[in-house]
Amino acid sequence: MTKYTTKLSQRREVAEGTMAFHLERPAGFQFKAGQYMNVTLIDPPETDAEGNTRSFSIASAPFEADLVFASRMRNTAFKHTFKTSDLSRELRISGPFGSFTLHTNASRPAVFLVGGIGITPFRSIILQATKDKLAHKLYLFYANRRPEDAAFLDELQTVEKQNPNYKFVGTMTDMRNSQRVWQGETGHITPQMLTKWIPDLKGPIYYSAGPPGMVAAIRQLLANSGVGEDDIRTEEFTGY
Ligand SMILES: Cc1cc2nc3c(=O)[nH]c(=O)nc-3n(C[C@H](O)[C@H](O)[C@H](O)COP(=O)(O)OP(=O)(O)OC[C@H]3O[C@@H](n4cnc5c(N)ncnc54)[C@H](O)[C@@H]3O)c2cc1C
Repeated sequence: MTKYTTKLSQRREVAEGTMAFHLERPAGFQFKAGQYMNVTLIDPPETDAEGNTRSFSIASAPFEADLVFASRMRNTAFKHTFKTSDLSRELRISGPFGSFTLHTNASRPAVFLVGGIGITPFRSIILQATKDKLAHKLYLFYANRRPEDAAFLDELQTVEKQNPNYKFVGTMTDMRNSQRVWQGETGHITPQMLTKWIPDLKGPIYYSAGPPGMVAAIRQLLANSGVGEDDIRTEEFTGY
């Protein structure tokens, strides 16, 4: 396994309570859109039972300069250190890992069913497919409580203008507590919502990522819609 030393170059809020961390991309670090890496703090000022390493899907696309990951910011020692430490702090990363990447057969659409922080690998996949002008039809169903909670929301909507094969379908489950205007779907992702955009649910390959409970719910939804196991690919964010 190859390990690299790098530095935090930028951090920014990408939704309420969610931050993106930009790392300098080490020379020789190559990855495919959708893969993940392990991030280790070196001699952090605080630690806890979970230790100093976490796995994160790479949210940046391979063509982008920085390596980016994004996370819901809770007060674990690991995340607190990331939120507060100097940008010059050295970190160790290893990877890339995983085979959660876009299928090659462009005649089959890709349908991404995502809730919350599970968006990270899909930002990478969608931006890279757009840059490479891939012929795949891509559908992103992106569920959050409110627009305020949806990481990379504006960017993922804007990509529609650059990629005629890409459709963004956002849905919000708690607009009553939102201060923002929302003209998209509301409520959870349902089979009816899918069939509005995808007439034959048996054609595409389906992808989901995120906390295990969320991924399980999406699998159930797809099973209820008659989608076969072979056409479903998932990445569980174990640790949540
Ligand atoms: C392949 C893979 C890819 C992954 N990709 C990502 C990714 O892109 N982004 C990502 O964030 N994680 C990702 N993860 C998960 C990541 O590795 C961490 O396990 C996860 O972020 C949890 O972090 P944490 O251990 O610091 O605990 P957290 O779950 O962040 O925090 C736990 C603490 O917060 C408290 N807490 C729990 N729930 C709540 C709540 N709802 N509100 C407030 N406080 C709460 C608890 O009391 C506990 O003390 C991935 C994991 C894998 C295996």
